[in-house]
Amino acid sequence: MTFTSHMPLALDEARAAAARGEVPVGAVVVAPDGRVLAHAGNETRGRNDPTAHAELLAIRAACAALGQERLTGCALYVTLEPCAMCAAAIAASRIARLYYGAADPKSGGVAHGARVFAHPQAHHAPEVYDGIAAEAAAALLTEFFAARR
Ligand SMILES: [Zn+2]
Repeated sequence: MTFTSHMPLALDEARAAAARGEVPVGAVVVAPDGRVLAHAGNETRGRNDPTAHAELLAIRAACAALGQERLTGCALYVTLEPCAMCAAAIAASRIARLYYGAADPKSGGVAHGARVFAHPQAHHAPEVYDGIAAEAAAALLTEFFAARR
């Protein structure tokens, strides 16, 4: 099976989030057979829900699609380094591989801050691939915040 990056779809979700006035972050969950199970963008404002990060929405939708509480063997693509909350959800859902775009020194919880997967209390740590389409993901965020100032 050839490797297909689903980061372009995650970037589409990030752009759609920006168009809704949400912080532009997008996420995609892919099944072990390569099928896209769910994709989502940030919706914290639209849902009045501080936990409505793209990753959590995509994880919830993928679990619902499969009718199970875990995403064993699945991959998650997200345009920005997940925060600690989302990293904990990634561990709990047993996602096998995490591909993310831009680093997030301010709020990231994978390579920065809490470094959730580095702790023995993380019952599962995915393989992590960072820097995937990082420039495009970071540019969306920079443009979004520049426009709000
Ligand atoms: Zn998050």
